[in-house]
Amino acid sequence: MNKNEEFEVYISDLSDEGLGIGKTEGFVWFIKDTVPGDLVRAAVMKLKKSYGYARVVNVLEPSPDRVKAPCPVAAACGGCQIQQLSYAAQLRFKENKVRSDLQRIGGFSELQQTEPIMGMEEPFRYRNKAVYPVRRRADGRTAAGFYAGRTHSIIENPDCLIGSGKNRRILDAFLGFMDKEKLAPYDEKTGRGLIRHVLIREARQDGAVMVCVVINAEGMKEAGALCRVLVRAEPDIKAVSLCVNREQTNVIMGSRLINVFGPGYIEDSIGGIKFRISPLSFFQVNPVQTEKLYGAALEFAGLTGKERVWDLYCGVGTISLFLAQKAAHVYGVEVIPEAIENARENAGLNGIENAEFFTGRAEDVLPVWYEEQKQKGQNEHIDVIVVDPPRKGCDERCLETMVSMAPDRIVYVSCNPATLARDLKYLCGNGYKLERVRPCDMFPQTVSIETVCLLSQRKPDAQIEVNPELSEL
Ligand code: SAH
Repeated sequence: MNKNEEFEVYISDLSDEGLGIGKTEGFVWFIKDTVPGDLVRAAVMKLKKSYGYARVVNVLEPSPDRVKAPCPVAAACGGCQIQQLSYAAQLRFKENKVRSDLQRIGGFSELQQTEPIMGMEEPFRYRNKAVYPVRRRADGRTAAGFYAGRTHSIIENPDCLIGSGKNRRILDAFLGFMDKEKLAPYDEKTGRGLIRHVLIREARQDGAVMVCVVINAEGMKEAGALCRVLVRAEPDIKAVSLCVNREQTNVIMGSRLINVFGPGYIEDSIGGIKFRISPLSFFQVNPVQTEKLYGAALEFAGLTGKERVWDLYCGVGTISLFLAQKAAHVYGVEVIPEAIENARENAGLNGIENAEFFTGRAEDVLPVWYEEQKQKGQNEHIDVIVVDPPRKGCDERCLETMVSMAPDRIVYVSCNPATLARDLKYLCGNGYKLERVRPCDMFPQTVSIETVCLLSQRKPDAQIEVNPELSEL
């Protein structure tokens, strides 16, 4: 086939990136803006040996799961990939993906039931954080929006439907002020211009909003006037600051903050734990679903108050602090020092004294801690290990140490079903049994999938059910 040649194809699946997948005589096509169940006319864009990319020319028969994307720029914007799929179908897709990765990569049998995915009642307006790049459009006007998929051209979108409804009012006031005061937006090519990004965060508990303007200068004399304009437009704004970033880089935030109004932070809570959120601190972007996901992790941990627990890849300690309320002692480890500072602050803010945090890589810190405990003759037994690794999953050295520590239970929180399946295969080949699998939809309208799993140690004296398909693991 040649470029631009047209053909008909039935879309049978969705790729990890959210592209529709169709097959013609064994040849696999990836086609953007199509959903499983669509029959489409497509045109060849790019050919590889056994697969190719095509663009949709028209949808001949729409899938029963196809809906009109509620956001007018959904197709161009890089933020959401599957808005044109009904929410029920999105959830089905995510559940199936977890199940099929567990079978295909993990070697788990079909008997391994995954529990129903925890979805959202209202799958829009869930993000509590938005970062808008501010740029000059070709016609000279100032614009704010999001990056188009994989590029740095801006798709204007002041009212992102997965973000807060307050963002639009704030951005309109902000851009109006920029135009009136002739403040120049930043130009990535020349490194000139003042305003780079606007960060808006909203606390779920009381609706308080924090605005931080990232500037390419050491200060901004109009800051006070800007702040007044913003607060008039949105009275829930309780904190305004500037963030200095003079580097010519893709990194959004700089390290120096200048406080303009308010205490420099807002506070929010997840599962009864308070968090102080400054413009530089990490905080989960969907608190409603975080509470469900980490709530399941807490349930799976099965704590009675006596347990000693490790939380590996602990970030700002969200899970650690959840667990600490029900455990004797929690140890957390995380590679980013600032996150550990936040974790300690958050522990202090909540009066939690039984959580201890270590900075470093889990695969380095855990074995050293374990050896030291043994050498000092101290209790090295850990009842539960919780892991919440990044997309690449756990380092093998980390898994090895976990197995040699032989905790009664391992709770695995994952943002990537493929590496989850790989790591579960290792753990189940080394003395653990997969008990529960519960996916959670933390990011509706996108292809991200979170899952929480429970593994328990196969006790040597316990009866082991032999499953022929699992026995070789
Ligand atoms: N539960 C955390 C989020 C975990 S995200 C929270 O609520 O904050 C995964 C975390 O793993 C990130 O914070 C990342 O910085 C950290 N990380 C990545 N590689 C690591 C490693 N090798 N050892 C320890 N932490 C690591």
